[in-house]
Amino acid sequence: MTTIFLKQGRDHTVLRHHPWIFSGGVARQEGSDPALGETVEVRNDEGEPMGLGAWSPTSQIRIRMWMFGAGGVVDAAFFAERIADALVAREALPASRRDTDALRLINAESDGLPGLVVDRYGDFLVCQFAAAGVERWKAEIVAALQELHPCKGIYERSDLDVREREGLQPARGVLAGEEPPACVEIRENGCRYGVDVKAGHKTGFYLDQRDNRAAVAAFADGREVLNAFAYTGGFGIAAQRAGAVAVTHVDLSAPALALARANTARNGLDEAKAEFVEGNVFEVLRKFRDARRSFDLVVLDPPKFVESKGHLMAAARGYKDINLLGFKLLRPGGMLATFSCSGLMPPDLFQKIVTDAACDARREVQLLQRLEQAPDHAESLAFPEGLYLKGLLCRVR
Ligand code: SAH
Repeated sequence: MTTIFLKQGRDHTVLRHHPWIFSGGVARQEGSDPALGETVEVRNDEGEPMGLGAWSPTSQIRIRMWMFGAGGVVDAAFFAERIADALVAREALPASRRDTDALRLINAESDGLPGLVVDRYGDFLVCQFAAAGVERWKAEIVAALQELHPCKGIYERSDLDVREREGLQPARGVLAGEEPPACVEIRENGCRYGVDVKAGHKTGFYLDQRDNRAAVAAFADGREVLNAFAYTGGFGIAAQRAGAVAVTHVDLSAPALALARANTARNGLDEAKAEFVEGNVFEVLRKFRDARRSFDLVVLDPPKFVESKGHLMAAARGYKDINLLGFKLLRPGGMLATFSCSGLMPPDLFQKIVTDAACDARREVQLLQRLEQAPDHAESLAFPEGLYLKGLLCRVR
């Protein structure tokens, strides 16, 4: 095994079990050039062992750590053990937090498996291999999943841009068992959703918003709801099922809205009370404002606006704009559930942007609840980057 020595002072984060070592932290190597994803031993500049990690020769994140300290082996048994531990953690969630058959089983770095996401959708598992290390161990990982979480089939959705930085091609297809059908039905907090695991966003559904859909639905009874960035209906369907009198879903994607409509019917909800608007939220909300439309509950769940640190200010303007419009569309006593899923957007800056939007909209706003990703998307304390989804549930006076 090749040994990688870190530069002086670059062992701090590793000693705190942060899993990433950047290319700038690497001083020299002893042994042959490691192959893509190969396990390397990491030592600090004094030669003390720091642990074992996976080598990514083309990525800025040059090493992703598998384990820390001296000794240890990275083999099939290591992956089986990490996967088993992640499954135990999911089973330990209180029943109220997992009233669903769709759950994130493995959350990458936060579960000690950098680059690996595994989501369960009913009888199928859907995986993403986002880094060279997990790609190299794919066969062992799939075998362990089959053994520890029997299912009808395991499907890969590694059609990810980040793979390019890792020197990997996009990949998609069956890894084991049966191919999932075009629509897999899942259950979540009493609602049913059809999910396109083969072509939908991410692995098919925004599982991270599960608890927040429930939190918003709890306020929906008797209210008229605007579900902006609706995707396949998530928040709006939960709200309508909880008694919302009308729901307007807005999204750019026609296939997503078609599934939102089908999901409305799937839940036995009145389609006459659901409106599906295909369009750009920035424009549609302006039109609603100009037409003096108003709502009692507005959900803003945009895609990731911040792709890199350089995009932060442009993204801030985007968040400000939609939140300003969201506040303007609310009736007195109305509620806004507003989200940012950009890991690069700090929670305090997001709150400041929403506060600025409230001021500009001339609304007095109370913060009822701070929201985050559901606990199956747990964040490791050693890896704060794992917290990416934040939301504010607000009420206007
Ligand atoms: N709230 C959803 C997830 C939203 S994901 C749920 O609970 O499942 C973000 C969605 O925003 C995607 O469906 C994407 O198609 C849509 N989108 C992105 N930019 C948009 C824009 N400018 N206008 C309207 N929809 C947009």
